[in-house]
This record gives sequence, structure tokens and C-alpha cells, in this order.
Amino acid sequence: MARTSKQKSQNADVVLPSQASPQGAGLPDEEFRLFSSLDTTGSGLLPAKRLIDALETLGILVDDPRLDMSRLGIDNVRDVADLSISFEQFSSFVQNSKSTLIKDALQGSLVVPDFDAFRASLRDMFVATKKNTSGQVANYIPQLGRVSPENFAVSACTIDGQRTSFGNSTTPFCIQSVCKPINYCIALEQFGEETVHKHVGREPSGIGFNSLALNSVGLPHNPMINAGAIMMCSMIRPEEAMADRFDSVVDMWRRLGGGGHVGFNNAVYLSERQTADRNFALGYFMREKNAFPKGTNLIDTLEFYFQCCSIETTSDVMAIVAATLANGGICPLTGERILGSNTVKNCLSLMSSCGMYDFSGEFAFLVGLPAKSGVGGGLMVVVPNVLGLCIWSPALDNLGNSVRGVEFCKRLVETFNFHVFDSLASGTSNKVDPRQKRINSHAQAVTALCYAAATGDVREMRHLIARGIDLNMADYDGRTAMHLAASEGHAAIIDILIARGAYVNPRDRWGNTPLGDARSGLRADVITVLEANNAIV
Ligand code: GLU
Repeated sequence: MARTSKQKSQNADVVLPSQASPQGAGLPDEEFRLFSSLDTTGSGLLPAKRLIDALETLGILVDDPRLDMSRLGIDNVRDVADLSISFEQFSSFVQNSKSTLIKDALQGSLVVPDFDAFRASLRDMFVATKKNTSGQVANYIPQLGRVSPENFAVSACTIDGQRTSFGNSTTPFCIQSVCKPINYCIALEQFGEETVHKHVGREPSGIGFNSLALNSVGLPHNPMINAGAIMMCSMIRPEEAMADRFDSVVDMWRRLGGGGHVGFNNAVYLSERQTADRNFALGYFMREKNAFPKGTNLIDTLEFYFQCCSIETTSDVMAIVAATLANGGICPLTGERILGSNTVKNCLSLMSSCGMYDFSGEFAFLVGLPAKSGVGGGLMVVVPNVLGLCIWSPALDNLGNSVRGVEFCKRLVETFNFHVFDSLASGTSNKVDPRQKRINSHAQAVTALCYAAATGDVREMRHLIARGIDLNMADYDGRTAMHLAASEGHAAIIDILIARGAYVNPRDRWGNTPLGDARSGLRADVITVLEANNAIV
């Protein structure tokens, strides 16, 4: 976006952004408004920390690959305490960071606009769920049995890449069965739905995840149980060398997870291979039924399956993987399309019906979200078009699902209207919808402005300013944001409104001014601010 010379702040002769009149030559451009919404003192220099804090509050973290921090002259975010940013630097930062991220974030246009409130709710759920110490760590693979049941992490990432996490969210854990949906996606991308489903069904099995059972036509019931997952391994780049096939799966996880940590736990792999009689039996059973694609090497396929189960990642990264699925296959942090939207649709359908072992039906009923759990205690949950979640807590219930994982999900849908059928019950429940509500009309804009002023919501006021809303708008009675903030005693809002050039003395339909309202309400702080700005009654 082109800037005018009046917006350059480093030259003493030019007008600082915060001094430029919004009514001046032409409308101020968007970057100017964004800068002004943060530069509350009007000095023309913005403390870097304030910008970083504002973005983090909105869920945009400083390690976000879309942010070009170098434009702010920031190499190390720990050194920002005394750093101030000129409008020129800010503008370059906005323009060089990917997409319209910063604009959307500061205008409150991301999918969860009040991310701070959302984060606070998740934290409450995390704290409440942590108290549950029931369940047992899986010990049928000895290495898994050594992980501490104390571990607990919750991470969330929205489809706009707003992130938050709690607990041990950077500790790697084995993905185990959470490899299954991703392997299914990889096979679908290579062979297509029709071919893949010549080798695997789409029905819940109704029996244990490693049961020695196939469906009526001799195929594994679905890709989310062991037999189906072994089958999918036979359909991931079967023409390539084993090392390349494994690399392609790890690479897929990295890309889905925005480039975050994805590793491999060799000890789990060795331990898994040694205790794999049931998986070998399933493999031979399927081979006997001619279920595999022609030319499949059974032992290689089983090895590959054990390796995939032994991939490690963190809760932070798995939440980004889930968010990529929630976003139809495009990674929110890199913008890369990684999976086709039909692939994701198919995968989420099967996660919804088969992702939670023998609790899948109950989970679909109670929580109503596609999810996949693994015996490593990881649980990946997708809220389509909103966000991805990972809950990691290794203590499992007797069906193999993370105890805290399931509890957290139940709490999640008790608070938020995320269950796939909650929309049918809207109006009859008090569930919260944290999603973006757009301002489409003048009436909505007036309401938003007046409500923010009346409730003293400084953050919302900044969003509205960043969107370029007219601060002098009045409702049917001629009441403006200035009147409402004065009546309710919100001096901080009055400060912001005055700094942004709002009229100090508007009159409502009864002839009242904000100062008159403040005096009637004995709002001493507001009276002081207004009187210092030539207010009259
Ligand atoms: N590696 C495990 C197995 O095949 C996967 C178990 C799971 O997470 O469900 O037995």
C-alpha cells in the first residue's frame, strides 16, 4: 500500500501519524489506523513490546513464520523492552508479513476475535481436568509404560494460526495411532478414494482396535484400526525405498505442523516390533484373504507401520496438524495447501465415526467432533473451519483413550457450541460461540461501538478504531460512544476517543453532553479528562 510523506515519523518536519488528522487530506490508510490504534499516547513511536503483546493477546505468537520481525529491527524478542517502532517500520512489518495477518488480527477479524477470553476458558478447563488422575499408562509396549502419567498438555491452533497452549506442550510424545488418519490421507492423495477403498472399509468395527477380524468381504473395517492402518501403510509410496517412504510420512507431519518438531523414538519402535505378534497375525490374515494391493511386501509393510507409530511430536505441533485439517488441508501458519479438501473431508468423516476406539459412538454423541486418539496418550481433535486441538495425557481409560483427553473434550463442548449439531440447538443453550461475528451494517457498527464504550472494553475499541469505524456515530437517541463512556465512568475510553479525534461535545436528543452525563453520574475521573479537553455542558 502506498504511503504519503506525511506519515513518515522520523523526519522532524513531517506530521507524525498520531497527529495527522483523520479528516485531513484523504482518509488515513489502514496501516495508519492500525498504528494509531496502538499508539495510544499519540507520540508517533510505538513500544515494540506493546505491539508484540497485542499480537500475542490475539494468539499470534512471535515465532509465527508469517511475521517478519526483522522489519521491526527485532532479532531477539527478549531484547524488545526499550525498543520503539516508527510508523515506517510498522508499515514495513505489516506489508512484509504474510497475507493480511496483522491487519486482520488488529482489526479483530480473525476466526476467534476475542482470543484472550477463549484462551482463559481453555485454561480453566485445563486446570479442572488436571485434577483427574485416574487411568493407566499403556504398558503393552514396555517403552510406552515408562512415560510419566503426570504429563499433561493442551494446545490449540485456529485456522487463522492463533495459538495457545498449557502444560507440557513442548515435550515430545509418540503419536501411536494418531498416525492412522494422516497415513490414510497420504494413501488417498496417491491412489484416490476408489482405489484405497478397494482395500479398506469405512465402517466402525464395533470390536477392539487390534481385533483379529475383517469385514464380510475380507477387508479391514476402516483405516483407523490396526488392520486398516497396516493396509494404508502398504499404499504409501509402495514403489519407493523404505527410507524414502518413512521420510515422506515424517515430511508430511512436518508440513502439516507448520515446520515444527517431528522426530522418531527408536526405543519405542524396537519395543513395538518385539511385541507385535497381534499385528503380524493381522497382516498374515489379510494376506491370506488377498486384501493387499498386488506386490505388497508384508514384512516391509509391518515394519513401516511400527515406524509410523513411533513418530514423535509435541502437543503444540499436533494442534497445528489438527488446525490444517480444520482448515481443509491448508496449513494456517505457512499457507501451503498440503492435502486436498476431499481427502480431508474423507479423513474427518472416518475420524468422526471410528477415531476413538470402542468409544467412538459415545464420543460422536457426546462431543460430536472428529478426533483420533493413540495409546501414547495423544488426542487430536478437529473443529472444522475453526481450530485444531491436541490434548496429551498418557493415562488411558480401559478403552485406550486418554482419560484427561476425553474429559477435556467434554468440558470443551459444554462451554462452546462446537458439537457438530449444536447449531440445531442454538437459542436453547447457553453455549458460547467464540467465532468471528462480522459487522455488516451501520446498525451493527453503532451497536458495537456503543457497547464497547458502555462496557469500557478498550481492546474492542481498538479493534473498531483499527477497522476505521466512525467514532462519532450516534444511535437513535443521538447517544455516542463519548456519552456512554462518560455515563458509565470509563475514562480510558474517553482518552482513546479524544486522542482519535472524536467530538468532545456531541448533544443527544435531549441536549445532553458527555460532560453533563459524567457530572450527573459523579464520574470524577471522566470529568477531569473532559474538562481538560474543553468540554462543556
Ligand atoms: N502401535 C500400536 C499398535 O499397533 C498402536 C496402538 C494405538 O495407538 O492404538 O498396537
